[in-house]
Amino acid sequence: MSYRIERPPGEERGIVIACEDHDHRREFRPAEKRVAFFCPDCGVEVEVALREDDWRPLSERC
Ligand SMILES: [Zn+2]
Repeated sequence: MSYRIERPPGEERGIVIACEDHDHRREFRPAEKRVAFFCPDCGVEVEVALREDDWRPLSERC
């Protein structure tokens, strides 16, 4: 079994986790930090932690 994680270009940081063997897929909202995808055919649950890109410009000091 193999799982694929996609980032649809249209969505804002949402992800799709798909089981390639059984073509089960589920979409997750970007607000969720940690998501769990369960494929009933595999009987396996995979947990994925989403890490937000936190780009903050360094403030300049005078
Ligand atoms: Zn599966």
